[in-house]
Amino acid sequence: MSAFEKLKDQWARISRLEQTIGILSWDMETYMPDDGVKARSEQLALLSELAHQWLISDEMGALLDVAEQDASGREYFSDEVSMIRVARRAYNHKVKIPKKLVARLARTTTRANSIWIKARKKSDFNLFAPILGEIVELSREMADHLGYAEHRYDALLDVYEPDLTSSQVEKLFTETKRELIPLVREITGSSALIDTGFLNQTYDTARQESFGLQVLRDMKYDFRRGRQDRSAHPFTTSFTPYDVRITTRFAEDDLLSALFSTIHEGGHALYDQGLPLDKVDTPLCQPISLGVHESQSRLWENIVGRSRVFWKHYLPILKLHFPGQLDHVDGERFYRAVNRVHPGFIRVESDELTYNLHIFIRFEIEKDLVAGAIRVADIPPLWNEKYREYLGITPPDDALGCLQDIHWAHGLIGYFPTYTIGNLLSAQLYQKALQEHPSLPAELAEGDFTGLLAWLRDNVHGHGSRYTSAELVRAITGGDVQVGPFMNYVRDKFRDIYA
Ligand code: ZN
Repeated sequence: MSAFEKLKDQWARISRLEQTIGILSWDMETYMPDDGVKARSEQLALLSELAHQWLISDEMGALLDVAEQDASGREYFSDEVSMIRVARRAYNHKVKIPKKLVARLARTTTRANSIWIKARKKSDFNLFAPILGEIVELSREMADHLGYAEHRYDALLDVYEPDLTSSQVEKLFTETKRELIPLVREITGSSALIDTGFLNQTYDTARQESFGLQVLRDMKYDFRRGRQDRSAHPFTTSFTPYDVRITTRFAEDDLLSALFSTIHEGGHALYDQGLPLDKVDTPLCQPISLGVHESQSRLWENIVGRSRVFWKHYLPILKLHFPGQLDHVDGERFYRAVNRVHPGFIRVESDELTYNLHIFIRFEIEKDLVAGAIRVADIPPLWNEKYREYLGITPPDDALGCLQDIHWAHGLIGYFPTYTIGNLLSAQLYQKALQEHPSLPAELAEGDFTGLLAWLRDNVHGHGSRYTSAELVRAITGGDVQVGPFMNYVRDKFRDIYA
């Protein structure tokens, strides 16, 4: 047996263990009784430690060394070389961080989670500041172990978006910001009225669910390889492409939230179901990065789900689900309502356009924190100043300001940029799909998503993790990740809506 074959065997064992961890986590978020949490945490910690040990074992390191030598000279994007490259990246990420640091980070973030909940409830950043300071310090240590060429933050970004650097992100974000902020100002200054009054009704949740299921079926989410359950926060989890699950939550007074989160998670799930079936349990049967994953969910949620053609087809169907409730709403009114731009304090409630402004603020702050250019105590005033500058609003307190997201408490520094990278990619990918398949809008207007899904399967999903996000965009478009397609898309769409 060659080193490469042994490497694949070892990887398959680790990946099956991780799938098991995924199932236990999914169960914890959906069906597990509350009191099961202590035992479940111990089960998860044990299996995670085991998976970690297997990955960083001396055997794994030796297999990688030999497999790399054996494969030298072979084509860079071949199955073999790509699998070794992806496995090497995962191994390096884990092996470079000392066990003690992993344990300290785990302990600190567990404590931080409950402190953050308290701080947010009392809207008091000072309660959270000391432990956030510890997390930033630990992240800086982690970055030093991982290594970087230019900025310490690059090492953290690389965990979620391989090979993307903060200089690249900064360049993309600066360019987006330059055009987006004036566009948002133009819109908020516009006299166009968007009527959302019809949304202020009670919408039966069983009917919401059945409509969402129909959309998922039309999107070709495969229920033989997936299921939908309820959880406190919607998410997608994937064990193999044969078992990709989504969750949602419903509220009677909110028709749109469950609907768009269903389409969003459906977009994530289609990606996972489309990963190469002949590569299950190999390093290639994985998504590329968080940014590419998010590009799929945003493409379906925003570019498709918030389009005029989509509602041309689906509004009559939605009306059948809610007899008498939407009779006086026409397609145009509904389309405008689901696209209302409204600068607000809370990121997760924000619209397609201002969402990115929330991300820029987080990126700029966490990058400066990691660089040591600002201190944790500087966050609240800086946060509020940036909200004034970018969104024209001032958060009244920390709960509606810098305490709203759980990411930093979980140690997820370097994660936020992937949301906007996803938005940029979604527009760039859709633009290319449209060039190659000009009948897409006509198909969407019929509720027919087969053409779009086939394009995504061929160009994105089916490659697994063979490419990085930059390599994927190059393979598809021949160029780099660009801001232009996204800005063109939002400019055309919102100038039209807001006249
Ligand atoms: Zn998402």
